[in-house]
Amino acid sequence: MTRPTDDRSPTPLDAHTELVTAGRDTQAQKGFVNPPVVRGSTVLYPTADDLHAHRGEFQYGRHGTPTTRALQQALMALEGPLCAGVGLAPSGLGAISTALLAVLKAGDHLLVIDSVYRPTRNFCDGMLKRYGVETTYFDPLAGAGIDRLLRPDTRAVLVEAPGSQSFEMPDIPAIAAVAHARGALVIDDNTWATPLYHRSLDQGVDISIQAATKYLGGHSDIMFGTISANARAWPQVSEAIRLLGICTGPDDVFLALRGIRTLAVRLAHHQRAALDMANWFATRPEVQRVLYPALASDPGHAIWKRDFTGATGLFSIVLKPAPQSAVDKFLDTLTLFGMGYSWGGFESLVIPFDCSSYRTATTWNPGGPTLRFHIGLENLDDLKADLERGFDAFNAAG
Ligand SMILES: *Cc1c(COP(=O)(O)O)cnc(C)c1O
Repeated sequence: MTRPTDDRSPTPLDAHTELVTAGRDTQAQKGFVNPPVVRGSTVLYPTADDLHAHRGEFQYGRHGTPTTRALQQALMALEGPLCAGVGLAPSGLGAISTALLAVLKAGDHLLVIDSVYRPTRNFCDGMLKRYGVETTYFDPLAGAGIDRLLRPDTRAVLVEAPGSQSFEMPDIPAIAAVAHARGALVIDDNTWATPLYHRSLDQGVDISIQAATKYLGGHSDIMFGTISANARAWPQVSEAIRLLGICTGPDDVFLALRGIRTLAVRLAHHQRAALDMANWFATRPEVQRVLYPALASDPGHAIWKRDFTGATGLFSIVLKPAPQSAVDKFLDTLTLFGMGYSWGGFESLVIPFDCSSYRTATTWNPGGPTLRFHIGLENLDDLKADLERGFDAFNAAG
């Protein structure tokens, strides 16, 4: 993909600069900083000759517009030099299912990390199974030990780092080395760290997925997914996108690009705030353990430090054993932490979770009720006061 015309820099730019400058085409945008929201299906050809030759920058709305191209260029810059192409999908889950359909066929075997996002698991156990693809789940901490699970028909390994509820941190470079030695592709759901804090493709991953619904969008107002691939995987990914007819709405494309422009400052705040809050939770008598790889005490800390350049606003805690009614009192007392799925927006969130019923390769038994928090952009003292009121109600109920 070509560099934007207003990028006159001859040297590679820092990711923070790319986030601001990539995908901008001042001339085509008639001077405006942002691209227009192009709503379009039909693209007209000036002459019959152009039509016969399919000549023209854009062919048809489904295949791309100036708005989608601007977003794809920004994402390419963010993913780094190994990124050969970026596909856009109507949701994060849509990006994952499209990537899997792109690289798998009937009779193939797929390895999936046991801490995977649950709807991804449902797709593997549902549709992929029906289409003749067999899935085996593996221990998130297996590292190079997944070697013994790889078979001659293993086509792909799907990882997620860290698991978005349980926060186990897989060793992606070790997994990728083993997978590649056996001819399998590696797909990474990189939603937690984003490419700003984890350059998946630089770490041996072939296809890097974002639920852009989360941090890329950043404002809890879009559903969106991205599929970034290296030169080895991009032909299959782009073909699947074309054959399946995957495309995205122009307003969501625009909002995803707008979100990307401020990603660095938002993530820096989420990281600082989450680290402060995670340390605060660790001092609470009600809390048994905090699951957050950015903490030195976390079992995944060494891998996080080696492979990631930052942490984001999502982590979990394990409470000391308590009745569900006390946990519910805690949740119902909170006013600043909304109870809801998704995350990555400006607001703080909390949900209870329990992965024990659907894990198959490992046993999830943390020893107490588990809660996942997203730390938003609110004042930290306000958030702590809210949680203190919650813990008071929790203690009174327990
Ligand atoms: C939210 C999420 C998804 C799915 O994204 P949607 O846009 O909600 O479909 C996939 N993976 C992870 C890790 C997520 O948190």
